[in-house]
Parts: sequence; C-alpha cells; structure tokens
Amino acid sequence: MVLKDQIASYKEHLIGVRRDLHRIPEVAYTEEKTSAYVAGHLEREGLSVVTGIARTGVVGLLETGRPGPTLLIRADMDALPITEATGLPFASQHPGVMHACGHDGHTAMALVTATAMNALKDRINGTIKFVFQPAEEGPGGALPMIEAGVMDNPHVDYALGCHIWPTIPEGTIGIRPGVLMAAMFSFDITITGKGGHGAMPHLCVDALDTGCQVVAALQRIVSRQMDPLQPSVVTVGKFQAGTAFNVIPESANLCGTARTFDKTIWKRWPEIIETIVKGVCNSMGAGYEMSYEQGYPPTINDPDMADRMKRIAGEVVGVDRVVEPEKTLGGEDMAFFLERVPGCFFCLGAGNDSFAGIHNPRFGFNEEILLSGVETYCRAAVDLLGKPSTEGS
Ligand SMILES: [Zn+2]
Ligand SMILES: [Zn+2]
Repeated sequence: MVLKDQIASYKEHLIGVRRDLHRIPEVAYTEEKTSAYVAGHLEREGLSVVTGIARTGVVGLLETGRPGPTLLIRADMDALPITEATGLPFASQHPGVMHACGHDGHTAMALVTATAMNALKDRINGTIKFVFQPAEEGPGGALPMIEAGVMDNPHVDYALGCHIWPTIPEGTIGIRPGVLMAAMFSFDITITGKGGHGAMPHLCVDALDTGCQVVAALQRIVSRQMDPLQPSVVTVGKFQAGTAFNVIPESANLCGTARTFDKTIWKRWPEIIETIVKGVCNSMGAGYEMSYEQGYPPTINDPDMADRMKRIAGEVVGVDRVVEPEKTLGGEDMAFFLERVPGCFFCLGAGNDSFAGIHNPRFGFNEEILLSGVETYCRAAVDLLGKPSTEGS
C-alpha cells in the first residue's frame, strides 16, 4: 500500500483520539488523565514509555534496533482555563477548562504517528522519540523536560513539532525558515516612595508620579535604543497606585511584557529595563523592586530543515498549498528544543470561517486537517531516518 493510503486508513482512529482528549482538558501541570491516556496508547503500540517526567510529561521510544539518528516529535498536552461554548457532542467535561489552542489535536497527531510509524518500522533506521510535554501555555514544560534529560539517551538529532494555525487557509501547511515566533519576557516593578497629604508634595516622594515617568521612559526603549528594522515592543499592561484623591500614594505597582525576535535583546531585557527603572527612581528619590520571568526564547526553524519540510509538505498537500506564514509575536516553548538541535515547527493550516480563533471559547477546526499533520510527520521520519525502500511512497 502506498504511504498516503496507509495513513488515510487511520483517519477515524485519529479523530476518535482527538475527541477523547478534547473531552478531558487539563491546565498546566494537572495533565493527569491526558498523560495516562497518552502512556496507555503508546504502551499498546509496544513503545517503551516513561511517565512523570517534569511531573506530567511522557516519552515514548520507537526503536528499530538498527543504528541511526534519533528524531524527536513533540506535542503539547495542556489546555486553557476557558469555559467551552462550542456545543459540540464531545465538548469539555471539565468545567472551566477547554482545549482552545488545539493541543488535543497536536497530541492526537503525535499518538497516531506513533501507531503509523510502528507499522512502517521496517522503512526506517534509528529511533523516534515521542515527547508529550505539559504546560506550554505557561509556565512552560519543555525546558523542565529537557533539564530532566529528554534530549539524551538516545541523543536527539532532529526535532519536529506542529501547531494548528487558523491564520493560514485550511488545507495548507505553513513553513517559515528562520524566526517564526517571538521571545517572551515579563516584568513586575514595585516603586516605593513616601506617602502623605495631597497638598504637601514637598514632604512626600510620589510613587504614582514616579511610576508615570517609568512608564514613559520604558516607551523610549523601543524608539531610541532598538534597531528600527528589528521589531520589538514594550507594554506596561497593569499600573496600580493610590487610594484617594487627596493622598499621595506610598507605592505603585506596574507589570508588563517585552517582545522581540532577537535572542540577544531577549537575554538583555532585565538589564535594559532595570537601568531605566533605577535611573528614574533615583532621580525622584524613590526605591524599587523588580522581578521578572525570562519566558521563552524566539522560535527559530533551521533553514535546511525548513527547506526539507517544505518539500515533504508539498508531497502531502501539493506544492501550491505550502505557504510561508507571517511571523507572530506570540511565543512557544517548542523554541527550547529548536535551540538545541536542527528542527522545524510547522503550521497546520486551519483557517475556516465556521470556527473562532485560538484561545476563544468557540475555537475549533476541521478535524480532517489532522491527517495531513500525521502524514507530514511520517514522511519526515522516513526522509530523516529512512533506508532504501522497495515499496511505493
Ligand atoms: Zn495557546
Ligand atoms: Zn498552542
């Protein structure tokens, strides 16, 4: 049987797995039912399975017993704290939690790829390592799994992942060489002054006024310190100070995020932001405390792997349906795998006016697209780990 027909025979199974997972959404680090489901599926396929990595992460190894490279296929398992409003018969059974980012689809594709490649094992050498991670929506499960050793034993040579992508048309596959998604960073600053009567500013250190100057000065970072040809943004999204019209507040709290596609800038955010905060607060006689989360690095596809994946995707959906999606300032912790080995994070086109976009209570997608994701994974596995085949492709 040719590969396309063989994979097409899994369609109902694939949709069934996705629906099973859709019913049991779990937020970051509570993916107990999901990881048990994943482990059960992989064990039934005869893979060697390790559970409880970085709490709820699961790894399944498909070993051919023949020497060769190791391909890592990564799926994220977590859902979002959203109340589902799709009215689907297989809607969430967990109140207030929903798979509204398609991670049920990502997990289903990786599981069925394990099934399909198990049946196609004689076509490849080496190993496929299926990695199911928690907490992609934050605080991040990829890095803890890497720190727990998922890139070793056997050592990983390539990494692939995929996201359902409603901003490109259904039926397409999007592959962008180089940077696809932004580096994330968030900060929390508390300014401390000296409170007092609103009519006696000379006896006070106004934390609110200092905070206003900090917000304004932070905006100068992008306009005066950053290369105008390299997109970046600094946003203060929360500013809290004061209790009454005639009281100068003693403290002010501001929180925000900074985004960039540039890894060097991403690493420097703490220093860049703190220099401004310190200078402004010093000039006003105020104190400050700053904390931050470094967040995810930029998601960068290896150019050679991206070219290879474009060719493979062309075999799946046709060359005219392989597109190059726009960069996005959203972040993804797949970035941590792609920092370490050549790899590609491809976008599974899901654009369809009948469904709302990701992170929306009416999010959805045409489940038929999942089959293209499985076929892309399988063709990539044969391409990267393949041995000469006598069968048709
Ligand atoms: Zn998401
Ligand atoms: Zn997502």
